[in-house]
Amino acid sequence: MQKCVAVLGGGISGLSACYYLSKTSNVSKVVLLEATGRFGGWINTTRREDGAVFEHGPRGVRPAGAVGRNTLNMLSDLGLEREILPVPHDHVASKNRFLYVNGELHKLPSSISGVVKTVPPFSRPIILSVMKEVLVRKGKQEDESVHSFVSRRLGSELADIAMDCLCRGVFAGDSRKLSVRSCFPPLHRAEQDWGSVLLGMLFGGEKAGTGGMSALAQRAKAESWAQWSLTDGMQTLPDALQEALRGRERVEIHHSAPVRSLSYTAGGWEIKQEDGTALKADHVISALPASVLASLLPPAARSLSHQLCEINSVSVGVVNLEYEGSVLPVTGFGHLIPSSEDRGLLGIVYDSVLFPQHNRRGEPTTRMTVMMGGAWFEETLGGPDEVKDQVLLDRAVQAVRSHLNITSSPVWSKAAVLKNCIPQYHLGHWKQLEAMRRYISDHALPLTLTGASFDGVSVNDVIFSGRTAAEGLVGKI
Ligand code: FAD
Repeated sequence: MQKCVAVLGGGISGLSACYYLSKTSNVSKVVLLEATGRFGGWINTTRREDGAVFEHGPRGVRPAGAVGRNTLNMLSDLGLEREILPVPHDHVASKNRFLYVNGELHKLPSSISGVVKTVPPFSRPIILSVMKEVLVRKGKQEDESVHSFVSRRLGSELADIAMDCLCRGVFAGDSRKLSVRSCFPPLHRAEQDWGSVLLGMLFGGEKAGTGGMSALAQRAKAESWAQWSLTDGMQTLPDALQEALRGRERVEIHHSAPVRSLSYTAGGWEIKQEDGTALKADHVISALPASVLASLLPPAARSLSHQLCEINSVSVGVVNLEYEGSVLPVTGFGHLIPSSEDRGLLGIVYDSVLFPQHNRRGEPTTRMTVMMGGAWFEETLGGPDEVKDQVLLDRAVQAVRSHLNITSSPVWSKAAVLKNCIPQYHLGHWKQLEAMRRYISDHALPLTLTGASFDGVSVNDVIFSGRTAAEGLVGKI
């Protein structure tokens, strides 16, 4: 098969699709086009000269499951083993996670003793809800909101507090709108296959993995890692991919190359760039946000564009803070805030506990990241284009002061609005996906949809989606 493949978008999913395609000789050429001046998309690290590292996007990746292993295999292939910073399950950042409810921090139970007794903010032992869950009848809906699912199976308190927080922490989204089937597929599957989340978790096992298990993936298992980062921050991963791709035959990667429009004839795709140049390709892998792809497609694909536009994303205000000394009153991963407590403030990550290796050299410091907005951005902060960085910074410093009683001022900070950064898989997302993919196959469009808008938002998910896109084209890699 002699095909020229264009990969649109140089975030981690586009880079991954390119990387997997570059491993086969079944394509004649692969061209990646990225709009901005750098690769990596939302993966974005500031590295200061004094050694401090600050993440503005993802900061930790889970090694668990088939997709976690796949990423570790890729890291191994790229020679990044020595860069890895593992956080094992027995690390304080894995054991101590907090919720901020009723004006106080509450540690989430992390052991059996924690679930058998009543631990605030919950009004009864969690084990009671979990045991009763086994008896709850299987739901009949094809899909359900995360809140409704958890409320039905585990009770309203866990839905209102724990799951509300988790959805804000992972998706910056509203558990009452997010789909359980698309956001937490293992929960949905457990109920479908076992009639119970608990039984599914205990006996369901894991989906078969793709590829083997590198020495790094074996090490992660043996050492029981809960998550990992990299010595110079997450940006190292797209940097290494970019480096590897530049050395490969048949692969071209271009940044500062925004795509303006796509047109399709029987002869293939014509991809117009902003500078007026046009590229011809037999197949397009789109690793763009759904709404961006919608705006590029030709009028003939209007109905696909409409479907793509229905996948909305939310914006997040991200504020990185650095304080002199060890000022945290607790140690752990950080705390999440339920929407009933403060709609606009999502959570605070205690980065210096999670990855102390990223602290600046010398005297101790405390690094934190405050996340705000998400599904509540407009109502609490205003338009993402209008809100001033200073407003985000003031809000973040105030939150640190009132939640953690830290009265000193940060010695360094960076505030930014990440516009439309997390896609929201609302109720029925799976049906929209099916319809879009059916449209593509019915119209024999040589187009593959990949990236965070579709099949999972985590770094692992989107790397795996890049792999799936490549394998869909050339077979198993
Ligand atoms: P993107 O990163 O959005 O990449 C899309 C690319 O397309 C961009 O580079 C963009 O510039 C480019 N593009 C746009 N328009 C055009 C055009 N017209 N032409 C060409 N290129 C174009 N995941 C985790 O696993 N762990 C975490 O701790 C975590 N934390 C997160 C924290 C935040 C604040 C955010 C925002 C996300 C976090 N995530 C986390 C999720 C994860 O980082 C993202 O889902 C993932 O990076 C998305 O990658 P992507 O390649 O699919 O999309």
